[in-house]
Amino acid sequence: MNNILFFSTNGHPERVDFRRALLMGQAPDKGLYMPEKIPCIPKSKILEFSEMTYPKIAYEVIKPYLGDLVLDAELRSMLQDAYNYDVPVEKVYDEKYVLRLDRGPTCSFKDFAARLMARLMQYFLKQVDESILILTATSGDTGSAVAHAFFGLDNIKIVVLFPEKEVTQRQRRQMTTLGKNVFPLAVDGKFDDCQALVKQAFVDPDLVDLKLSSANSINIGRLLPQAVYYFYAHSRASPDGKAAVFSVPCGNFGDLMGGLIALRMGLPVHRFVAATNENDEFLKFMCTGIYKPIKPSKNCISNAMNVGHPSNLARLFSLYGGVMDETGHVIKQPDMQSMRRELYAVSISDNETRQTIKEVYLKHGALLEPHGAVGYAGLMKYLTKCGDWSPCISLETADPAKFPDEIVRLVGINPPLPAAMAKLDELEENFQRIGADYASIKEYLRRFL
Ligand SMILES: *Cc1c(COP(=O)(O)O)cnc(C)c1O
Repeated sequence: MNNILFFSTNGHPERVDFRRALLMGQAPDKGLYMPEKIPCIPKSKILEFSEMTYPKIAYEVIKPYLGDLVLDAELRSMLQDAYNYDVPVEKVYDEKYVLRLDRGPTCSFKDFAARLMARLMQYFLKQVDESILILTATSGDTGSAVAHAFFGLDNIKIVVLFPEKEVTQRQRRQMTTLGKNVFPLAVDGKFDDCQALVKQAFVDPDLVDLKLSSANSINIGRLLPQAVYYFYAHSRASPDGKAAVFSVPCGNFGDLMGGLIALRMGLPVHRFVAATNENDEFLKFMCTGIYKPIKPSKNCISNAMNVGHPSNLARLFSLYGGVMDETGHVIKQPDMQSMRRELYAVSISDNETRQTIKEVYLKHGALLEPHGAVGYAGLMKYLTKCGDWSPCISLETADPAKFPDEIVRLVGINPPLPAAMAKLDELEENFQRIGADYASIKEYLRRFL
């Protein structure tokens, strides 16, 4: 079997296999890895998914990218172990569904990617007896998902940078109460600052000996697992194979990229709604063809989506024949026509988000949190503008209990704490604070040399 190779969106000539792309995180030219060829799953196979469990579907979707790099039995057992929780496809009304991706150990959709990535990295590192340091920036949920996924593994240490003033107390506690090989850093800055610091550390020649790896959505290992739940949700909401509309709340656009990869693999999708909060740089780009990052990013209540320049746009552009470098500079314009045919961009204000949480609960009894509400509001806007469609699947990316204040104020109920978070408020926290300058983070990282 010929393994699928991965190229850098910045054009570096080297092609690498999945194993290398996963362990490197980012290409040497700061580009992001993308598969050179996207394997297609035949329609007949996709129809069989309606009878298959989540881990079995995951196997069909992921396996073609791994080729012979992972033993079959190992892969199956990793998937079984990683996806040991519910993935509800909840009917809101008619054929309008909410896909609840919040039942993992840290109660956000990031568990899907982090849990498989951790297992794959561990597998590859054991083969060569190496250790790495994972350096990751988080706007709230990546950090905890990654920290939990890698917690306690021998040959991996994790440094997590988070913007101190932009994460909720529970989000912070999910990172700072673990200890062991998890090192949380509170940055006096915004998420974009954290992301920039991480990117700079990756290309710093003084730190090569640390064997830095990323667990951000820039890592291809985060992306591919996120194609799986689109297949899964479609198999449940549309067992006869009719094309579905998916609405995706977007921050760094990794979740949406998973969907677009699923589409290229053959999943019947009518349209993707790319719903952002008030950080509307993508909507503006879709309208005008001109891309301008938002600096500084706006603080919205869907805090994991407060991203002024989504890193995965480089991949999105590449999928449509364009080139965008890591700073957001457009080197080659993508094919706007096919982009607009497949994607519908919307921006949802905080007011609309709150209104949606209230309305959906009162009208349908479904409880959403701010991120999922952005997706749902985006779907409703799309259906109003472009005509009704069924089936529709809106992604709910976190558990409402992560945002108790907002929910209590809007619908008057305290969302029940999932078992995974029950003890969180009592555990002891441990973290350090640093400034948003590169010198501080470099000094901190040197200690691991
Ligand atoms: C990270 C996150 C998002 C945004 O996902 P991207 O892949 O960055 O677009 C949305 N909702 C929640 C709850 C998240 O944690």
